[in-house]
Amino acid sequence: MQLLEERILKDGKVFAGNVLKVDSFLNHQIDVGLLDAMGAEISRLFAGAGITKVLTIEASGIAVGCFAARRLECPLLFAKKTKTLNIKGEVYTSKVESFTHQCTYDIIASKDFLNENDTVLIVDDFLAKGNALIGLIDIVRQSGAKLAGCAIAIEKGYQGGGDKLRTQGIRVESMAIVESMDEQTGSVTFRR
Ligand code: 5GP
Repeated sequence: MQLLEERILKDGKVFAGNVLKVDSFLNHQIDVGLLDAMGAEISRLFAGAGITKVLTIEASGIAVGCFAARRLECPLLFAKKTKTLNIKGEVYTSKVESFTHQCTYDIIASKDFLNENDTVLIVDDFLAKGNALIGLIDIVRQSGAKLAGCAIAIEKGYQGGGDKLRTQGIRVESMAIVESMDEQTGSVTFRR
């Protein structure tokens, strides 16, 4: 999406450790017009896939997930992050290795809101090594729901997570794919 690429070039900041900071428009302060355009594009790409639920992970996936779900006219369900698993039985659980915080945490989603009758679109703000998506895909598999694919705002293509999932036959659509980032110069290039 050209609009998103232009915004990354204008306002994105490259930090040490392969982190692209976009908190002025995507995951702290939110440009609702830009996210609305992303929601429209995601809905266009997955029109006809019969999506009944958008699934994301708290906290920063929620905004983009909401806009996608609004356009797809279905609910948004967000997996919660938890350090201690004290509710068993009523929830699907999986483990995720955090790229930004370098720790492992559990994610949970209630069995009340996802089952074998659902067709799920997974949405997130970033895709790096793919660990967050793998955890969410695991939850979809446990529920018996059908996975339509994944829609991501910003994929860092050179970290390989997206291509790993694509080679497994999972449809992954990213609104922008970063091909390279340079912490020294602050430059960002995109995959074409
Ligand atoms: P993965 O699990 O694919 O390695 O990383 C994806 C998760 O890590 C996303 O949910 C996102 O919150 C976070 N993340 C990964 N890379 C970046 C980045 O460059 N910038 C920001 N702000 N978050 C990132």
